[in-house]
Amino acid sequence: MTTQQPSVSISMPGSRGHASCPAGASACGRRLILSIHDVSPKFVDEVDRLLHLAAPIVGARSCAMLVVPDHWGEAPLVPGSAFARHLRRWADEGVEMILHGWSHRDDSRHDGAADRWRARMMTAGEGEFLGLGREEAKRRLDMGRTLLEQLLGRPVTGFVAPAWLYGEGARAALADSGFEMAEDHMRVWNPVTGRVMGRGPVISWASRSRARIASSLLFARIAPVLLARQQLVRIALHPGDVHVPALVRSIERTLRHFAKDREVVRYADLH
Ligand SMILES: [Zn+2]
Repeated sequence: MTTQQPSVSISMPGSRGHASCPAGASACGRRLILSIHDVSPKFVDEVDRLLHLAAPIVGARSCAMLVVPDHWGEAPLVPGSAFARHLRRWADEGVEMILHGWSHRDDSRHDGAADRWRARMMTAGEGEFLGLGREEAKRRLDMGRTLLEQLLGRPVTGFVAPAWLYGEGARAALADSGFEMAEDHMRVWNPVTGRVMGRGPVISWASRSRARIASSLLFARIAPVLLARQQLVRIALHPGDVHVPALVRSIERTLRHFAKDREVVRYADLH
């Protein structure tokens, strides 16, 4: 585990704080949520760079961080560590903290052909919660929440499954554990009540292959037109994005476009 410390200050100039509405915005009913995925000691440099990229545009306090308790079983969050202190400081300063799986690695056996295909093709083996049974899903949810709450000193009520993939067991376990927010590619919902809190595709970028880079650049390019009438727009950033300059430029352009006339909100504001 690296001990390097993120250098970004969350209270940097240009930060607008959360739930901010741009001056002169004509439609404050239209909203933007920004999230940074796979926050883990393993990706401390990348998370730092993503914060630097986003903070001057949307305000650093406006983002959500999706935290992985032990990424691939290689990067445990350790109470009292430097990274744990950073997480707590970011949370104190307004970053919304969300549980994002336990290991992020799919180690389930998938029985259905469709699930096997989804697990292999869509996620490169990272859809941890796709094949879990209800009991095992609940065990990981409760374990992750307990650890995060201990580190942060505050309740954690949101969960996003790795690769946005949920099996039946995961959906049932989320309700059992009382999580009040979850999201997939197309919607945000309350697992306890079933109420849908927001709809519309997530804009995200893929850095795994040239073909995926090209298709995510294309989607980001047409998203301003495609999503112009969407009440809620979600933008998700991943650690791998920062290693591809074309993706960094696309992210910056996309954030500037959607932040200029949308209220930047938190998932908690959707309740
Ligand atoms: Zn992830």
